[in-house]
Amino acid sequence: MEKLIYDLSLADLELWCEEHGEKSFRAKQIFEWIYRGVESFDEMSNVNKALREKLAADFTFAGVTLVSHSGSEEDGSEKLLVALSDGNMIESVLMFHDYGISLCVSTQVGCKMRCAFCATGMDGFIRNLSAGEIVAQVIMANKLLKSRGKTNVARLVYMGSGEPFDNYDNTIRSIRLLHQPEGLNIGYRNFTLSTSGLVDGIYNLTQEDLPLNLSISLHAPNDELRRQLLPIAKRYTIQEVLDAAMNYFDDSGRRVTIEYILISEVNDTTENAKELASLLKRLPFHVDLIPFNEVRGLDFKRPGYSRIKVFMDILKERGVNATCRISKGKDINAACGQLKRHYSEARNIQNKPAPKATIKK
Ligand code: SAH
Ligand code: SF4
Repeated sequence: MEKLIYDLSLADLELWCEEHGEKSFRAKQIFEWIYRGVESFDEMSNVNKALREKLAADFTFAGVTLVSHSGSEEDGSEKLLVALSDGNMIESVLMFHDYGISLCVSTQVGCKMRCAFCATGMDGFIRNLSAGEIVAQVIMANKLLKSRGKTNVARLVYMGSGEPFDNYDNTIRSIRLLHQPEGLNIGYRNFTLSTSGLVDGIYNLTQEDLPLNLSISLHAPNDELRRQLLPIAKRYTIQEVLDAAMNYFDDSGRRVTIEYILISEVNDTTENAKELASLLKRLPFHVDLIPFNEVRGLDFKRPGYSRIKVFMDILKERGVNATCRISKGKDINAACGQLKRHYSEARNIQNKPAPKATIKK
């Protein structure tokens, strides 16, 4: 079976060229075309036909197709539905900020972690994405942006479906691929990885020596409550997670953010806020409060504005740096934490052949 072309690094292509009796500068030409978003080897106009045929025998572009997009720049975010070769669907979310365009990417179809509040975890795990399937989400997004005369995605947040550290190798490889200067050349500092707290993954990341931003999904100020919300908390205590995050911060000097979803009367009381403040007050982390996005089929509710404000003020009064994007359906986390509805829609069209990308001009 042909290999997905987006899984290759420039070095892999150079090796392939060498093995197939081609000059290595060809690899760079081919590589540039891939990241320009061509959908077939025939579009590579400076590559001769014989080579294009050899490439087509070994590699494929098929397997990642932009099926639809909804939302818009005016809404602040736009969801892209991407079909994979096996009929599974994933979602990426474009987010438009004053300072540039970000893309929230998925790393898995479904998720094993089964967090109590999360739509993605509800249906369990289907499969890991390959590094190329993660990269392809960015290429698809860039193509859509280009068709509107926009610049490429500047920042990537790994906050779509899946737990990045449960698909560690492919996640890290995707970051290295997206960083390649001959491709998209995205600086490591423009990546944010979000984890539900897989401690081993955090230590492994520290070893990689990549200056990424790290986000920790904490969501509770004590282990007892955290275990009720995130099953992974039965494996690792909050202290272990914070120690790993601190180690990453010390080693990389990069920003570490604590994500805390506010769910009405579950983890948003003044006691919860005080406990969170005492847990974090001596740590150099920023707290990102995320008003819960309601999920069909779950009883959890989003707290009202005043409750959120009280929670945030308690943190601030106690010296903890906290911000909250009050959602108008526009904020980043509304976009990222609410993928389920779209998966259901995706499943309904799964058995139909994936249409060609529909890019509105
Ligand atoms: N698996 C990783 C990354 C994907 S989830 C993680 O859990 O960190 C990205 C963020 O969205 C996490 O902080 C997650 O807790 C949050 N999230 C999940 N469901 C949500 C919901 N219904 N409302 C708000 N945020 C949610
Ligand atoms: Fe998985 Fe993250 Fe959802 Fe938890 S919050 S189920 S880790 S995607």
